[in-house]
Amino acid sequence: MINGLKFYMALCSGKLTYYLLRIMPTGGKSFPGLVFIKIAGKDALNKLAKRQLDMGSVLITGTNGKTTTTTMIINLLSKDWKLSTSVGNNTLFSLTTDLLINKAQLGVYEYGIRDVKHGTPDLVSDYMQPVGVVYTNISREHTQVAGVKNPFEDYLYAKTLLSRSLKKGILITNADDPNVTWIGQNKEKDNTIVYYGFSLENINDLFEINPVKCPYCHEELNYTKHYMGQRGIYDCDCGFRRPEPNVKLTEFIVQDDSWKVTFNLDVYNYNIKSNILEDITLNLPVVGIHNLYNILCAITTYAAFSTGENIKENIIEYYSNYDFEVPPGRFEILDVDNKIVGVGQGDNGDALKVNSLLMTNYVDEELEFIYCTPDANEEEIFEDHLLSINSLNPDNLIVIPGRTSVDAAKDYYNIIEKQYDSTFIPLEFDFEERINKIVDLVKNSNYKNIIISGCGEEIYFWDYLKKKLQE
Ligand SMILES: [Zn+2]
Repeated sequence: MINGLKFYMALCSGKLTYYLLRIMPTGGKSFPGLVFIKIAGKDALNKLAKRQLDMGSVLITGTNGKTTTTTMIINLLSKDWKLSTSVGNNTLFSLTTDLLINKAQLGVYEYGIRDVKHGTPDLVSDYMQPVGVVYTNISREHTQVAGVKNPFEDYLYAKTLLSRSLKKGILITNADDPNVTWIGQNKEKDNTIVYYGFSLENINDLFEINPVKCPYCHEELNYTKHYMGQRGIYDCDCGFRRPEPNVKLTEFIVQDDSWKVTFNLDVYNYNIKSNILEDITLNLPVVGIHNLYNILCAITTYAAFSTGENIKENIIEYYSNYDFEVPPGRFEILDVDNKIVGVGQGDNGDALKVNSLLMTNYVDEELEFIYCTPDANEEEIFEDHLLSINSLNPDNLIVIPGRTSVDAAKDYYNIIEKQYDSTFIPLEFDFEERINKIVDLVKNSNYKNIIISGCGEEIYFWDYLKKKLQE
């Protein structure tokens, strides 16, 4: 039991910190939440959430697309409700900060998890007692955390814990991804599960994929269709198979410079306690297959948690004006001294694949790849990265360490060096030095097309690199 006085002291200190920070030049979005938690303890978060949110909260997690999807969900749901939100900076402190200053009807929070110890998804779930948990997809990423090997099974388990306290709520998950489908199936007893997925014949992933294991029996899954990476139509000899989605992408037509897409919805709505049935057609700019998954996830979540009124109109209105902004640090194509330079974060197999696909639209001459490697104990990520490197088949390959270990980077280099004209640059773990060297490489390169991607510590590295390249 939390002492009432302590709770209110923490509340006041947290709020005061927020107002002080607002008038300070640098800001520090997570700091007030940190102050609150340090004084009142994490347990107080439960009391705070109950006090500040009428309906409760929706938590969003996954490996790819979290930030973009959460942004769309927030924009859509804010048509219906007053929201408390946290996006981009997905820590417990940032979430708490917003709760401190915003009394709202519904909370919508992006929450990133690398492992149980650092992400404490179990505690976040217990304290927040969400009414909804949303999963985008889960693929191999962060196979090392703070110097310790983080096996995929542990990473997946950590993500499942975010829905541990979900009862009589809605879990929204991607039917095309076996890992997050498994999470949904394990919660079917106490909750409504809403699956979304593609229902298309004319989309097929051109990239090879590494084998995907069945989350139940750990044998290799059979795929009859690959939409994107491990997302597709799959089944297993043990009986596990891709479930029929409640929200489907049923039509995908490429027009001159736009995409016409149709979604078919049959979604349980949390507020009216019955199903929403709609067919919605949108005209979108050419956004990439990965964004179709983000949109699918966002409209599913909106349909599930909206007031239940004007869903179709609101979705059409929102996407007719939608500007696909690139989140900080993400991949972008830049013009640097008349060279086409694709640069940005690609921490996992899927992310580098998305970047590579985008790059292929621009490459018309010889290509140089400046590849930033994963760390020690991240061989799985390297394996997934290799598929993208091989499919781009660069004319020149420069390998530099992307994370802490220079030795690990050298080991990865040794695996690929013979396949390409390649160079290894053993740069120590120093942002400034690495960024300056990459800028130097680009300026002095003989190639007109250059891609710079792979692993890099956090988005700041990529964001700063992009800024330096544009100077
Ligand atoms: Zn199986």
